[in-house]
Parts: sequence; structure tokens; C-alpha cells
Amino acid sequence: MSRLLLSTDLDGTLLDHYTYSAAPADLLFPLLNRLNIPWIFNTSKTAPELIALRSRLANPHPFSVENGSAIYLPKGSQLTADIEMQEHLGFNVINLGLTRSDILSRLEPYRAQFNFYGLSEISADEMAALTGLSLDQATLSLDRHFSEPIVWRDSEDQLLRFRSSLSDMGIQVVKGGRFVHLQGEVSKAQSLAWLIDRYQTLWNSSVESVALGDGENDRAMLELADIAIQVRSPVHSFPTINASGEVIQTDYCGPEGWYQAVKTLLTNRFPDAF
Ligand SMILES: [Mg+2]
Repeated sequence: MSRLLLSTDLDGTLLDHYTYSAAPADLLFPLLNRLNIPWIFNTSKTAPELIALRSRLANPHPFSVENGSAIYLPKGSQLTADIEMQEHLGFNVINLGLTRSDILSRLEPYRAQFNFYGLSEISADEMAALTGLSLDQATLSLDRHFSEPIVWRDSEDQLLRFRSSLSDMGIQVVKGGRFVHLQGEVSKAQSLAWLIDRYQTLWNSSVESVALGDGENDRAMLELADIAIQVRSPVHSFPTINASGEVIQTDYCGPEGWYQAVKTLLTNRFPDAF
């Protein structure tokens, strides 16, 4: 019998697109814990943001940051008992992508040719105004290590050219909810695959993966998962996915949809748990 593992996007999926609240999805966290189902954040957010968030939501699990660029594990995690790792912010880190300084130096020659600006160039005040984040949250979200989000101010045609130029440099261009993300050739799917592999070894059991996401940057993760839950967005339609497994599209947006889908799944699998 395989064991469940949840990999979830945050903005617009577990967190409300406008308010960043996790209610009512958070009602299910104690049940997931009781059933020993890891619920893992897999997001474009940064490690400092995730550390604050996992403490607010009492999440004890590893987390994947900056669109699959790196995985942070609590020290002493049994998942990585046999691997040598770097440390950052009190966690062990697996880097699957590029560092931000690599990306910024490879990006330099293209600044004259395309019209955009990066988050490395803006202040926390400007970030707060762009996103609706508080000043503290904006500060955390600017503390990136593996990617550079940009605000695109050029045409869609130019974006295609930009994408192909950067691809030659080993940089991937991914459209997120608010920004275009520049990162190594990784996605949330790579970090999910890494986690599945590690949990399979740790549990000595097959893993049935469940991925939840709303955006284009969730596509690869959703396509990889055994169960893909597309969470409805108030600002765009469901991205088209070529999923290998089951696909569920939620009726409600954000954390309401998350709650509905995960509750249905758990009710079917563990009818006695409620
Ligand atoms: Mg999202």
C-alpha cells in the first residue's frame, strides 16, 4: 500500500490570492499530521518567507523554494541522513538549480535589448506596493538566492526572443502569478521528484503524490503527480496540463478549493479519520 505525499503551491493555491490567508485549508493540517501525510510547500517564494510561513502554519516538513531551485530540510531530517549538504538559515540545503548571482551575471548582456526590471533592483517599499505584501513580508520576499523575478515591460514577441536567448545561457523563463521568474533549468517537478524518491527510500514504500497548484509554474509538478489538483484562480483560467495521473479541478478558488479537494480525497481514503 502506497503512502500519500502532498506538494502544494502557495500563492493562489494554499494562500488566498488577495489576502494570503490559508483559511479554511488550515483546518486540515492537524488531520494530515495525524495521518502522517507530509504537506510540503513547493513555491516560487524564498527560504526566509517560507521559514516565517511554516512557523505561522506550524508546518514541520522540508520545503522547496524559488520554483524547485532548492530544497530546505530541517537539520537531522532522516530524508538526507546519507548526503553531504550546505547549511543556510539553520536548515540543510539541496541546490538543484543556479545561484542568483550566476543568473544576474548571465543576464547582464540582455538588459539593453529588452525592457524589464528585476527584483534585485527594487526596494522593499516598492515591492510592498507591487504585491500588497507588508513591508516585513516584502523584505523577506526580496531575499532570494536561486532566482531573479522580473517585471516584464516589453511585448509578448520580445518575451519569446528573451526566452530563447536566455535558454542558450542555461536560464529558464517561467511566468508566475505576478512576475516572470528567471531560474536554472529546474521546476517544481524536479523538487517533487527528489522528495518522492527520498520518501520512498525512507518509508520503504511506494509514494502516491498529490500536487496542488493554480499557475503555469505549477504545470510540470501537476503533470508529474499521481493526482493533480488544479486550484481555481480568481484571476486566470486553469492552465492546460498533460497529466499522467488523475486530474481534479476545484470549484472554489485558493484555500477554499484546496480544502474542498483535500477533504474529499482524505474522506475517500480514510473514512474513519473524520
Ligand atoms: Mg500560484
